[in-house]
Order: sequence, then C-alpha cells, then structure tokens
Amino acid sequence: MIEFKDVGKTYADGTKAVQHVNFTVEQGEIFCLIGPSGCGKTTTMKMVNRLIDHTEGQIWIDGEPIMSINEHELRRRIGYVLQQIALFPHMTIEENVSVVPELLKWNKEKVVQRVDELFRLTGLNTSLKKKYPSELSGGQQQRVGVMRALAAEQDVILMDEPFSALDPISREQLQNDLLHLNEELGKTILFVTHDMNEALKLGSRICLMNAGEIAFIGTKDEVLASN
Ligand code: ADP
Ligand code: ADP
Repeated sequence: MIEFKDVGKTYADGTKAVQHVNFTVEQGEIFCLIGPSGCGKTTTMKMVNRLIDHTEGQIWIDGEPIMSINEHELRRRIGYVLQQIALFPHMTIEENVSVVPELLKWNKEKVVQRVDELFRLTGLNTSLKKKYPSELSGGQQQRVGVMRALAAEQDVILMDEPFSALDPISREQLQNDLLHLNEELGKTILFVTHDMNEALKLGSRICLMNAGEIAFIGTKDEVLASN
C-alpha cells in the first residue's frame, strides 16, 4: 500500500512541481497517474522510492513513513520499471531473467520453470535464451525487462511509461500480461502513462494530474462519466 498525505515537492530552484497530493494505492491495485507533460507525474512517482525527496506532507509504504526507512532498504522493497530498461549486458537473456529468482535462492528446478514461464508470457522465442541483450531488438529487451521486474518478490512496483517505447502489438500483449499477472500476484502498482487508453485498460483507478495537482481520481466508469 502507498499513501500520500498532502505531499508536495518544491525543487531547489523554487519550482513547485507538485502540491497537495493525496491518494492511497491499495494492495493489488493498478493506480494510473495520467496527465500532460510537466504536470508532475515523474516527480510524484520518484518521491515514493526517494529518487526525489518530497518537501511537504508525508508518504507511507505499507503503513511505514518512507523517511523512517533506509533508502537502500526502500529501493529493495519497491520494484521500478522505466521506459528504457537496462538489462545486464554481459549476461545472456536467460541469466538476466534468472537474476531475481536466484537472489531469492529458489531451487534450480523452480528457476528453470520460472524462466520457461517468463519466456512463454513474453512470447519471446526460446532460441533467444543464450543471446546477449545487444542481440535483441529494443522491443524484445523491454519485454524481458518488464517480465523480470514482475517476477520479483516486491509487492510495490513503480512503472514509468514501461510500454510506451514498444510497437502496438507488443504493448497490447504486455498490457494483457500485466493485468493477468496482477490478478494472480496482487502487486500494488503505481503506473505512470500519458496514454488515456492505456490508463482506462489497466487502471483499477485513474488519477488525473494537472499543473502539479490532482484534478480527479476515479474508476474507469467514473472517468468516462465525467467527460
Ligand atoms: P511529468 O513527469 O508529468 O512530465 P515532472 O514531474 O517531470 O512532470 O515535472 C514537473 C515539473 O517540475 C515541471 O515543471 C518540470 O520542469 C519541473 N522539474 C522537474 N525536475 C526538476 C528539477 N530537478 N528542478 C526543477 N524543476 C524540475
Ligand atoms: P525523466 O526521464 O525521469 O522523466 P527528464 O528527462 O524529465 O527525466 O529529466 C532529466 C533530469 O532533469 C531529471 O533529473 C529531472 O529532475 C531534471 N529536470 C527536469 N526538468 C527540469 C527543470 N525544469 N529544471 C531542472 N531540472 C530538470
């Protein structure tokens, strides 16, 4: 669970990037933040794992104020998926996908099963297993990266336009995978997008931001009814 209580961020140069932000992202929910460029989406998201420190209000993760959690520990507890995902260049795709399960000390059989499952879910040809990231297209690398993040143990995941660099078919497939996986795994996801169709498809709730403030929070039906 992620809670924002009257949160604001004023940058060192005096820019008030966001103000009076209040919301709660419940366990198992995909909460979509949407709004025009510069409205404060990235700032809001980065305050959760303290890539940016908030200057007003308070933020809690699973009931704990983030300021009382060590930054290292905080980032270990929170998954983060960027638009451009960096795979480990010196590891094969198979090794990249196995990193998290191996960190979790799963037994070998379970790791192999999980890797196979991830390949199936991403629709990536298994012949890519032994290849290196530089040998894959950008879209293929992104699919490996997103699924790797979803394989992890973290309950809270921040996703910053993770699908926007993908071709439409891969994007749709990954959106479906995300919905499906989240039904199974029940992660708490804060998802930034500038694409309303994506927000309507994925969001259990949608939060519209404008000029650093929240303009509206509602379900898909409430958003559609408000227009
Ligand atoms: P979005 O993600 O919605 O595009 P951002 O959170 O990146 O919006 O930016 C919100 C506002 O804060 C913008 O006006 C942006 O120019 C400003 N901003 C972002 N980062 C900084 C910074 N480091 N210093 C000053 N202003 C910043
Ligand atoms: P992101 O890719 O995370 O959205 P941006 O490309 O918007 O980041 O910005 C890159 C860096 O520049 C970030 O560290 C951001 O905080 C900073 N930045 C963005 N807008 C401004 C601004 N108006 N003034 C100063 N720094 C900014």
